[in-house]
Amino acid sequence: MAQTVVTRFAPSPTGYLHIGGARTALFCWAYARKTGGKFLLRIEDTDRERSTDAAVEAIFDGLRWLGLDWDGEPYMQFSRAPRHAEVAHELLARGKAYYCYCSQDELAQMREEARAAGKPPRYDGRWRDRDPSEAPAGVAPVIRIKAPQTGEIVVHDHVQGEVVFKAENLDDFIILRSDGTPTYMHAVVVDDHDMGVTHIMRGDDHLTNAARQIVIYNAMGWHVPEMAHIPLIHGPDGAKLSKRHGALGVEAYRQLGYLPEAVRNYLARLGWSHGDDEIFSTEQMVEWFDLDGLNKGAARFDFVKLENINGHY
Ligand code: GLU
Repeated sequence: MAQTVVTRFAPSPTGYLHIGGARTALFCWAYARKTGGKFLLRIEDTDRERSTDAAVEAIFDGLRWLGLDWDGEPYMQFSRAPRHAEVAHELLARGKAYYCYCSQDELAQMREEARAAGKPPRYDGRWRDRDPSEAPAGVAPVIRIKAPQTGEIVVHDHVQGEVVFKAENLDDFIILRSDGTPTYMHAVVVDDHDMGVTHIMRGDDHLTNAARQIVIYNAMGWHVPEMAHIPLIHGPDGAKLSKRHGALGVEAYRQLGYLPEAVRNYLARLGWSHGDDEIFSTEQMVEWFDLDGLNKGAARFDFVKLENINGHY
């Protein structure tokens, strides 16, 4: 029997639900609905300083207004911190990760040396094979994963194709901080695995993270989900969509009186196409949606087009 599709939308609750996030959610939702699978919501609230309850509510409201219903209760990432720590310790026990006791000064020096040599900043792996008995007293260590030192990591991506990362460019990155909290890189992998996610769709700004995340999947012997990294949305001037392009939050469109069907239709067209069709119902989108229809080029936000589409509803 074919595996049930499980997609997820994993926003960080640090502000309103922005257009780019809403588009990701729409694609994940449509693919799950098309295949009879599940669409899960995970609130990535691990950054305690920037995450707010108001932002969590804004994400729920925005998704509801767009009609993107998720299955089950949302996962709150921070509450899963003990599980993230457990997996990091399992990697330690399996010899796939190690304690690193480097001080901030040592790390700064490493960065400086790399900069002087014209190389990207890279942790040099100095605690990889060091005896833990050499650990300085009173220093809480971080846990770093042993990234492969030779060969390559290949991200098989539905939009970007085969993206090859040279192992020499990936250092032994941190998975657990000295205070026992997980890094973003680690929490995402543990959560996607535990939630049974089969398809990860997200912005292509996460593509290099994907290579690092694959290192964790491989170290745990976990199956790597299918991936589709979608080109970010650009403004009408070709620059990455930002505040200066005007309304960025879904809420703004709602307040301006746009209809959710129109915004949904317009968002679907931003990065996905079905022939030359401009106007389609949500039912049609769900029926037609396919990962192969995701566009490789950057999508440009076009306020006039949105206005026209809204006029059709
Ligand atoms: N929380 C991340 C963000 O808002 C997304 C993580 C992911 O999709 O893997 O950019």
